Amino acid sequence: MKYPLMKSVFARIVFLFYFLLKINNLFSQETNPASFVDRLIPINTHEFIIKLKKESNLTIDNFSYNYRSLMGLSQKDNMKLLREETDKSGGKHYRFQQYYDQVKIDGCEIILHEKNEFIQSLNGSWIKNLNVNTTPTLTEDVARQFALDAVKAQQYRWQVPQEEQLLKKIKNDSNATYFPEGKLLLVAFPFNINPDNFKLAYKFNIYSQIPFDGITIYIDATSGKEISRNTFINYGCTSYCKPLTNNNCATNTRYNGHRSFDIQQQDCYVDDGTVDKDGNSNNNCIYDHTIFNLTDGIRNIETRDEPSKNIISSQAENEDCNIDDDIAISAHWGAEMANDYYESVHNRNGYDNIGSKLTIYVHNSFLPDNAYWYTPSSLYFGDGDGVNNNPWVSLDMVGHELTHGVIGYSVDAPNGFEYSGESGALGESFADIFGAVIEFYINGSNGNWIIGEDITINGIGIRNMSVPNGSGDGAQPDTYEGDNWYTGTNASEFSHTNSGVGNFWFYLLSEGGEGTNDNIDNYCVEGLGIDKAAGIAYTTLTNYLTKNSGYYSARSASILATQWLYGANSNEEVQVTNAWYAVGVGQEFNNPILLQNRTLTQDEYVKNKNDITASNNFNILSGVSCTFQSETKIYLESGFHAHNGSNFHAFIAPVVCQSHKNRKSKSVAVVNNFTDNNPSSNNLISNAKIKIPDYISDIYPNPFTDHTHYDYSLPSKSTVTLTLHNLFGQEQINLINNKLQNAGEHTFTLEATHLPDGIYFCSFEARSENGETIREVKKLVKMK
Ligand SMILES: [Zn+2]
Repeated sequence: MKYPLMKSVFARIVFLFYFLLKINNLFSQETNPASFVDRLIPINTHEFIIKLKKESNLTIDNFSYNYRSLMGLSQKDNMKLLREETDKSGGKHYRFQQYYDQVKIDGCEIILHEKNEFIQSLNGSWIKNLNVNTTPTLTEDVARQFALDAVKAQQYRWQVPQEEQLLKKIKNDSNATYFPEGKLLLVAFPFNINPDNFKLAYKFNIYSQIPFDGITIYIDATSGKEISRNTFINYGCTSYCKPLTNNNCATNTRYNGHRSFDIQQQDCYVDDGTVDKDGNSNNNCIYDHTIFNLTDGIRNIETRDEPSKNIISSQAENEDCNIDDDIAISAHWGAEMANDYYESVHNRNGYDNIGSKLTIYVHNSFLPDNAYWYTPSSLYFGDGDGVNNNPWVSLDMVGHELTHGVIGYSVDAPNGFEYSGESGALGESFADIFGAVIEFYINGSNGNWIIGEDITINGIGIRNMSVPNGSGDGAQPDTYEGDNWYTGTNASEFSHTNSGVGNFWFYLLSEGGEGTNDNIDNYCVEGLGIDKAAGIAYTTLTNYLTKNSGYYSARSASILATQWLYGANSNEEVQVTNAWYAVGVGQEFNNPILLQNRTLTQDEYVKNKNDITASNNFNILSGVSCTFQSETKIYLESGFHAHNGSNFHAFIAPVVCQSHKNRKSKSVAVVNNFTDNNPSSNNLISNAKIKIPDYISDIYPNPFTDHTHYDYSLPSKSTVTLTLHNLFGQEQINLINNKLQNAGEHTFTLEATHLPDGIYFCSFEARSENGETIREVKKLVKMK
């Protein structure tokens, strides 16, 4: 393919040389016209640069009056001067457009470059020997219909009255319109200066609104066929706004300071007003203004003004995001943050998990002192009454209301829980739970367990999840059917009051706590942290609950969800169960724990008030620490594997609350590097059941300097003797001498400032009333 192309270019160069020689011939008295052409440089198949020698003395007037004869053009050809420009150096540039029979020849333009009154060079494209019929077969109307049939937009700009009005305003011309006008042209596609290629065509600029585009289309004026098209949206200018783009903006929210969020932005351009010699626009675009719509194309959220129903938007003279409605911003931003939370933490795509559009209405005049989710896809926020409440767009409230949407599409979509009785209370509780979780997620340690503290003017908030009894608007119960439990028939009041029970369950599960509930039950919950608790709550809500679920079903559902996430008898299951017990729903976790068919790859602490049994295929891998703590018995049965390099501990000790954690735990059995392939340890698991002795003791600190503690517990009432010996077995001190002591924990503090440094042994002996004896000797080291 290369050779013919080269040949064609070469042929044209030869032609131009001939042409230039001819120009020189006519314009000078020189006998050797070739001397006027300095160089001819082809740019491509149809554009050339010709550099003239100084002595050619070609002026713009010589050219303007004699171009037909100069260029070998016919009387039907016209060169119209389009533009004359003087550059910084004082040089001039004349741009000519070629016409044939008064029809513009698309792409045939030349530019002459003049310095010191003489043309130095010229460049461009032109055509000779054209012979085309310039009377169209098709009328403009018919050609336009061909063009529209080819473009096939859903909607055109001239069909949008606002766009037409804007154009008339910008153009200051009551006749301005986007309606496409056809321009007759001679065109060649692909462009080529061969005269046989040119056709008579109509050119239309078609503005389409849906889809947003601007298309230049050429329709054959004889056949109606599309010859070519391209998009003009980035070129030339009739006033237009670029397509909407997503942009990240930052501006002030009502309650959360300066925050960034996504928005749709549209930059708009107008014609700069410059015209060419014929008074036609130069189609030069200049930036005019930007429109910001509170619409988020990323998360599919749109915020509208409830009274007018318009999208909240603003027009700016610069590209700063200056929407001054901080109430709308807060609602929009909060919803984006809530969506971010659900997406990044739970991989959920919006409230319905399929990314459907969320419409937010602010300044709600219908219920101004409230906020609500409106099935199937809207949020409404009032501006508050101004007496008790500010606008209802706090982050926790937006999170709460959006979570109603999540609930709606999780349970019996799209309506969610039955809004009466306990299922209604569960719905309100899950909405509060995730409202608070989202606040913590965004604000970190600045989050809190109060719902709506920004909304209430006195700052007390609407509900307090950590202290339901002490909440602002109305006290809630912290115990199922306990104090403040609402028993009336108002569904909304029932839901918003009795949600306190679920709220407190979640608070305890996150943060932990101990106390006595309204049933006079003492509870103790070790907090799992808000992230883990939220994961359990989310799985419970989305995968286990149904529309009529109540608190007892929520308890079962959350235990199932926790077993699903963390395995049966996990610490998580214990805490979930005990948190329900704390709020008066069900019993505390008190089952014997059977651990089997599990391989621990991470450290684990198994605590239980009842027995713990590890058996069939329970593995603790190398590098992993595992601790069992029971108040009763620990069984290590066949199939228990503590692999080489693992670290296994077992304790009998009261299962105490987090606040007691500093208490020294007491080790009775420590098995390091244990495997049941290790013969030296085989005796440990050779029995079907190994009971870890109930007696436990510990000395701390050890080594010690001036004093130390000897902790021990007695399984039953016993007579205790404790003696201190030196290395040679000589009795040094009789610490406890045949003293009758009750079952339980005891501590002896050894004050030893008077003892020399060195190694000692403590001998312990306890004789129970039925004659069982516990003996133990422990080594002590006293140091300076
Ligand atoms: Zn609610």
